[in-house]
Amino acid sequence: MKDTRTEARPIITLEAVEKYYGDYHALRGISAEIRQGEFFSLLGPSGCGKTTLLRTIAGFEDLSAGRLFIDGQDMAGVPANRRPTNMVFQSYAIFPHLSVAENVGFGLRRSGLSRAERAAKVEQALAMVGLAGFGGRAAHALSGGQRQRVALARALILEPTVLLLDEPLSALDKKMRDQMQGELRRLQRQVGITFILVTHDQEEALIMSDRIAVMFEGQIAQLDTPQMLYRRPVSRKVGEFIGVMNFLPARATVADETHIEVEAAGLGRAVIGPDQLPGGWHPGQTQSVGIRPETMSILYPGETTDRRVATGVVEDLSYYGDMTYYEVRLDGVERPMTISMKNLVGRPVLERGTEARVAWDARSLVLFA
Ligand code: ATP
Repeated sequence: MKDTRTEARPIITLEAVEKYYGDYHALRGISAEIRQGEFFSLLGPSGCGKTTLLRTIAGFEDLSAGRLFIDGQDMAGVPANRRPTNMVFQSYAIFPHLSVAENVGFGLRRSGLSRAERAAKVEQALAMVGLAGFGGRAAHALSGGQRQRVALARALILEPTVLLLDEPLSALDKKMRDQMQGELRRLQRQVGITFILVTHDQEEALIMSDRIAVMFEGQIAQLDTPQMLYRRPVSRKVGEFIGVMNFLPARATVADETHIEVEAAGLGRAVIGPDQLPGGWHPGQTQSVGIRPETMSILYPGETTDRRVATGVVEDLSYYGDMTYYEVRLDGVERPMTISMKNLVGRPVLERGTEARVAWDARSLVLFA
């Protein structure tokens, strides 16, 4: 298979795409570019339009308005079977009465390849998904994970330019899902084609993707790398959807080109940099700041720090073995905030009611309008 990873040209371009189902407005002005060779995810809650967008790219749904290009070609009027895409579904849709090899080779029937050539391709595709030597097995005798691999091999053997994956792992149990996440990622790197994954599982999207489009209500709320989505969510909604984020009421008091002064309840004043501001922001708009649990820590008695320090009380905690999640109510703040700490040797887990000094950094604040 071709290795085109080094290219970063757009392979899919969506321009102001709209989709109506009758009166229902399922996609609302989707514009995005998906790059050649990237692992791209569409992430969002149930009903936000992820599957609709994937099916639109595949050609199973028409656009109501807007344009879609794949590999530079306008897809208007191009039926699904003429597009350089292939789809792997949640329900693997493999033929139970056929053998594994017959399933994988199904799409090659009319390819003009000889029997031997087809068999070689099937064996190569099976090896790619970790099923070398399984060709003779009956498809109905496979486990869920193995069936999903067969479905993958069957899609990859046709060498699509873009592989579309609609919640392919959601029917697997947790352990198998964790394993397949790593394997899918490795496979994508190996074949170098663009994968577009639909998932509602934020952890899955973070682990696997080069970039993620977070969708709410038919729109893309943010399109970014996993790290940027986590560290610099553009809205409270995105910050809340991905991981845990604490929010504190806040006001931006002074602003010039290089720094902004923020006053956040419970934390006090801090100076932050321009890269911590959401786009299109101005000072009067600030209503809250967000801060992630692991960017703060509770100081032990006698422990000093050159970080900023706030004070509060441990109201509750959840012990996870390697980590403890504390609910700490900062002085002057109504709701407790979550602070996660690694459980280190020689550092006992703190008890409820402990007065806590909380170390934090201005760098980890995110401002929200
Ligand atoms: P899920 O994770 O639950 O699959 P999703 O984000 O993939 O959700 P879609 O399946 O794209 O969401 O659906 C988006 C909206 O469009 C939903 O409100 C859904 O009910 C509606 N919808 C989807 N397909 C149709 C259809 N064929 N006719 C009418 N409405 C539809």
